[in-house]
Amino acid sequence: MSQAPEDFRGLVLARFNYKESDLLVKMLTDHFGKRMFLFRRARKPGFKMTAAVLPFTLSNFTGRINAPGLSYVQAVRGSHAFTKISADLTLNAYSSYILALIDMAFDEDTPIPEWFRFAEQALTLIDQGTDPQIVTNIAEIQLLPAFGVGPNWRGCSVCGRNDLPLDFSDKYGGLLCSDHWQLDERRYHASERAIYYLRLFSHVDIATVGKVAVSEQTRRELRTMIDRMYDGLVGVQPKAKRFLDELNGAGSHIQALKPRKPKNSPSDFSE
Ligand SMILES: [Zn+2]
Repeated sequence: MSQAPEDFRGLVLARFNYKESDLLVKMLTDHFGKRMFLFRRARKPGFKMTAAVLPFTLSNFTGRINAPGLSYVQAVRGSHAFTKISADLTLNAYSSYILALIDMAFDEDTPIPEWFRFAEQALTLIDQGTDPQIVTNIAEIQLLPAFGVGPNWRGCSVCGRNDLPLDFSDKYGGLLCSDHWQLDERRYHASERAIYYLRLFSHVDIATVGKVAVSEQTRRELRTMIDRMYDGLVGVQPKAKRFLDELNGAGSHIQALKPRKPKNSPSDFSE
C-alpha cells in the first residue's frame, strides 16, 4: 500500500454508482495500470471534481494509489475532455469499445503505460476527426498479443516467405503464402489491400498516424476480417462491441474521410 500521495494522469474508463451518493470510477492511469477510485459524495450538489470524472476525460491528479483496495483522489490539477467524442453517439461507441477492449485485455493493477499512451492518442485522433473505424482496427490488431494471439505479420506462418501473395488463416493463427493456401480451405480469401492494412496496423505507431482515407470497400473487409479473428481466435468481446455493431447495422453511416491531397508520410493511409 502506498502511503505518500502520487501525481498521476488518469483516463476515465467506467463509472458506477456506489452507496447513497458516492461514485466508483475505474481509471486507466499512466503508471499504475487500471485502478478503482472512490469519490465520496460525488453525486451530491457541490462536488468539486465533477468534470474530472466524466467519461472521455483525462486529468492530472494527486491522490493515493492503493493495492489492493480502492484508490483516492485528493486534487485535480487540470482536465482534458474529449468533447467531440462525448457529443457524438458514433464516436462515443468506437471510443468506448477501444477502452473496453484495453480494459478487458489486462489485469487490474498491471502497469501498462504504453496502453495509456495508446488510449490517449486514439481518443485524440478520433476527437480530431480521424476515421474512428481505422483507429479502432489498429487497437484491435495491436491488442491481439495481449489476448494470447500473436500472429506473425512478417510472413507466411509455414515457410516465412513474404514475396508471394498472402492470406490470413485462423487454423495457422496468421498469414499463409499462396504456396500454402491449400493447407486451409477456410482461409480468409482476403484482398491484397486488406492484408496490407492488417500488416501495417500491426506495427504502426499510433502517435504517428496522419491522414486516413481507406475506401469503404476495404473498411468493410477489414471490419469483417477482424470480427472473424476475434470470434475465432480471441473468443470474447466487450458489451461495447455489440452496441457498436448495432449502431453500424442500423445504417448509421460512418463517413469515410474524403481522400485529400496525398502526403508521403508513411503513416498516411490512403488508397
Ligand atoms: Zn508459405
